[in-house]
Amino acid sequence: MSQSTYDLIIIGAGPGGYVAGIRAAQLGLKTACVEREFLGGTCLNIGCIPSKALLDSSERYQTLKHGLDRHGISVGSVSLDLKKMLVRKNDVVKKNTDGVAYLFKKNKIDHLKGTGRIAAPGTVEVIAPDGSRGLHPTKNIVIATGSAPIQIPSLPFDNKFILSSTEALSLSEVPKKMIVVGGGYIGVELGSVWSRLGSQVIVLEFLDRILPPSDGEMALALQKLLQKQGIEFRFNTVAESATVVGDKVQLKWKSGDQTGTEEADKVLVCVGRRPVTDGLGLKEINVTTDAKGFIPVNERFQTNVPNIYAIGDVIGGAMLAHKAEEEGVAAVEGIQGHSIHVNYHACPSVVYTQPQLAQVGLREEDAKVKGPIKIGRFPFSANGYARAMDDTDGMVKVIADANTDRILGIHILGPHAADLIAEATLAVEFAASAEDVGRSFHAHPTLSEALKEAALGVDKKSIHI
Ligand code: FAD
Repeated sequence: MSQSTYDLIIIGAGPGGYVAGIRAAQLGLKTACVEREFLGGTCLNIGCIPSKALLDSSERYQTLKHGLDRHGISVGSVSLDLKKMLVRKNDVVKKNTDGVAYLFKKNKIDHLKGTGRIAAPGTVEVIAPDGSRGLHPTKNIVIATGSAPIQIPSLPFDNKFILSSTEALSLSEVPKKMIVVGGGYIGVELGSVWSRLGSQVIVLEFLDRILPPSDGEMALALQKLLQKQGIEFRFNTVAESATVVGDKVQLKWKSGDQTGTEEADKVLVCVGRRPVTDGLGLKEINVTTDAKGFIPVNERFQTNVPNIYAIGDVIGGAMLAHKAEEEGVAAVEGIQGHSIHVNYHACPSVVYTQPQLAQVGLREEDAKVKGPIKIGRFPFSANGYARAMDDTDGMVKVIADANTDRILGIHILGPHAADLIAEATLAVEFAASAEDVGRSFHAHPTLSEALKEAALGVDKKSIHI
């Protein structure tokens, strides 16, 4: 089957691919997007959205069970209907993915259902679910095929006892005991979900800390709060192998000279994600990949082959949906000849634990090797609105250049940190000084006053501490 020529075919409809498609259509490009599974990709189907739906539900459950006495509210006995919780989660996913389908229709983007392969520069072959094949000529191709969980050979996923994040979003029963291998953000988020719902959760981490990309001081503060919530962490510990015996998993671990075996109902392996490029035909058309399989691109998201671009998780860097989206928009605007720039320094990231941890810009450990810095800290325990909410764990930390006062990084551990980081992101994007933020009005009473106070604290001018 031969088709009329597209201006752009995108392979993969995750947040990188579908957003690139919409921007391309806005710019007048005749656009198609090939997707072999579900519109919305990892993020909408098995990542950000379902995990946040479960984090929200489990947090409400935990609050009702333990948290309202001090508000003078008693709720009697609280029970869990996990099936219903999962139905709501699936419903949230469906609303979001239906939204993408609607936007494709509205923007006249063709959804080519099936697996995409670059048959030649300028031709994408789509193998439909029924096995039929179609060749689609196109002027440009954007590869947005995303990532998948890394599997450790000695802990092979069996989708029943040894799980990836995907299965951990749909367990039909609360496991009595769960071992999470990996203390990154997916491990601590999903560990939090099941811990709140009643599992005994042990996190094994190869390093000596959780959340390696986060500021060390803030990650340690969060770790202590998670420990108080009942999650156990074992650091400098390697999960060596896992064997299913009956309906339990025996996990062998090693820590220094010590070795041991821990039994659990489920083992969740969250040790990172790998790029997905299988079946794309990259080798045949000489698109370069690096040692880990990521596709290298230049600042215009061009691969080494003309008119073939790549964006999102498949090119590496921070594996975040909003990073993929910005790259998608930039790549397409670049195709249309616009000047483009993605400022990765101002890319925020959030860990949706309770409390949330959000950051933008440099960590203290990276900022101080670049030059002299000054730091302002403000605890939520001194913030009026946090007290009113009875949600006072955590703090805001503002790191500024000691000579210029320019904000280098902002870290927020506390209630609604995921939303509060937006102001910090603007401050970093617009190269604000700590004084700019400290002297800006912040409505009272709000959690955002903690950010103003931390910015004032950079020059020891905080008012409420
Ligand atoms: P993906 O979303 O992975 O999409 C790629 C798409 O390409 C997939 O739909 C796949 O089916 C399709 N595809 C692959 N190969 C082909 C082919 N040959 N033909 C056709 N289609 C193909 N990020 C955040 O920013 N915030 C969060 O809170 C967050 N939480 C997460 C929680 C979990 C549990 C997980 C797993 C991830 C989370 N992420 C989060 C990461 C986020 O999901 C990814 O960074 C994001 O989805 C990457 O987008 P992408 O478009 O590059 O790729």
